[in-house]
Amino acid sequence: MAGETMYKGIAVSPGVVVGVAYCLDGSLGQSESQYLAEDASVPEELVRFDEALRTAAGELDGIIAKVAQQLGDGEADIFRSHLQMLRDPSLLSKVHDGIRNSRLTASSALQSVLKEYASIFARAGQELFQERMADLRDVFARITAHLGVTGLGGPSPDTLGDGEPIVLVTHEILPSQAISLGEMPISGIVTEVGGGTSHAAILSRSRGIPAVSGAAGIIAEARTGDTIVVDGRDGIVVVRPDPETMAAYRKMQRDFFELKDRLVINRDQPACLSDGTLVELLANVNTVADAATASLVGATGVGLYRTEYLFLTHPDVPDEEEQYDNYRRVIEAAPDRTATIRTLDLGGDKTVAYLGRQHEANPFMGWRSIRLSFEHPKFFEVQIRAILRAARHGKVSILFPMITTLEELRHVNRLVDEARRNLKRAGVPFNEDVKTGVMIEVPAAAMCIDAILQETDFISIGSNDLIQYLVAADRDNPKVAHLCDPLSPAVLRMLRSVFDACRRTGTPVTLCGEMAGQPRSVLVLLGLGLRRFSMSPAFVPTIKALLRSVSTPQAERFSHQVLQLKTREEIRRYLTERLHEISRDLELFDFT
Ligand code: PEP
Ligand code: MG
Repeated sequence: MAGETMYKGIAVSPGVVVGVAYCLDGSLGQSESQYLAEDASVPEELVRFDEALRTAAGELDGIIAKVAQQLGDGEADIFRSHLQMLRDPSLLSKVHDGIRNSRLTASSALQSVLKEYASIFARAGQELFQERMADLRDVFARITAHLGVTGLGGPSPDTLGDGEPIVLVTHEILPSQAISLGEMPISGIVTEVGGGTSHAAILSRSRGIPAVSGAAGIIAEARTGDTIVVDGRDGIVVVRPDPETMAAYRKMQRDFFELKDRLVINRDQPACLSDGTLVELLANVNTVADAATASLVGATGVGLYRTEYLFLTHPDVPDEEEQYDNYRRVIEAAPDRTATIRTLDLGGDKTVAYLGRQHEANPFMGWRSIRLSFEHPKFFEVQIRAILRAARHGKVSILFPMITTLEELRHVNRLVDEARRNLKRAGVPFNEDVKTGVMIEVPAAAMCIDAILQETDFISIGSNDLIQYLVAADRDNPKVAHLCDPLSPAVLRMLRSVFDACRRTGTPVTLCGEMAGQPRSVLVLLGLGLRRFSMSPAFVPTIKALLRSVSTPQAERFSHQVLQLKTREEIRRYLTERLHEISRDLELFDFT
């Protein structure tokens, strides 16, 4: 077996782990083919596959009816085409052949057919390929779900590595896969593509496990069962490390876990600077379980609930009751029952078939987020109603993503008023006291912040998007990821002007992008006057510890100094030195 191989990718979630690789392919089957055990019966496997196919077809029939009723008959067409794909006799016979002739497990046979289609579509041209593949993946994932993710015969993550931590190695993690992976017992993630705000990154940060993205070519090298190191601070991955490399990383891993354990102690301490200035630390969550974690780590509320994960992982469309139930459970699990719920932020790389998957040359500049919600007003109203109703169970605010113009803000405010009126007219109980806010994540909104502030209750800065749009660089493209730097002069100047406008008008402002959990960025944000941060729950203890080691005048001095500097390198160097002086321990949690 080959020796040590090292990869340099992007550090997306801090920490160090030495573990055992668990390699999955694009549809989350194991990347190596899985064969039936010697004593397993081929006819039984054929029956198992046929049953999964039948169940998936039945599910699609139900979805077609539900989508037609909730969104319109045209929107259901996409699922009719899925049903057609699923009933394609050649698909059936190819999978049967794989099971019968090669003794592949049903899920492995299905995956090999998917790969075959992928190469046919690849030859048919880029655009068509992408659209057809997205639909095919959906269909295959639906069938696979009824076969069990890991299939038969191969090692499941629970049986791997004798209690060693498991490191997931895969090409990329799709939004719809993030939640089911989140339930697997994994301690590190490595992906070949994606950047600091990809789903793999969001998932790993919400779990507090180290992760590296952009480790190109690792799938061809790593095998399930290999020893693997993930260094989520420097973006290094080592497959089959030499004994010396392993010893060095094991020491770092111990330091990381010891520090993590020590920081848990400050859970019940208030979040304040060394001079007593109070700061609010909130949590970004994607699921009910995340909201419960937020309470465990000492966050004082949920600052951002990304509702799209409910839609991305739902087998069809969640209706008003299902949404109400989900929002209510998030609110009840949130610290102090306090939650800011963001309306659907789909589009870009997060798509659901029923809202359309038209090919766009620039999906992140295109039909995404609130723009998509505006195009489906009835569907959007259902979400607003469900939030307003669930809000009776706690202190809740609604947040609108990607507002670009004042007209859009006015439009969304009108839709909320209408939803309130309709609920009242129908005698449905809801919370009349819900505040509404705008995410500032498009530079156009930041430039016109004064006008926006006059017509909103609060704002929350989505720095992940704000930065990518400001510097014109895709936040998940490793080739340009260096440009998406929160510590660049342009970003800090823009943030300063938004904070100043909020101070002038007395408008509450939170920052909920990833920089809220990054120690060096937090030092500057404090100095610029920010007092509400929302971050992955795993970062709350670290940031709380950082707050205690810095005073308000100190942070103000840092930000003043930083704003005199002209390049991101100078700013980074300056803040790295300050962080080193303040707390060497916390450097372990710094990343990017
Ligand atoms: C952001 O853009 O900073 C943000 C918090 O939203 P998301 O990462 O979900 O786009
Ligand atoms: Mg955003």
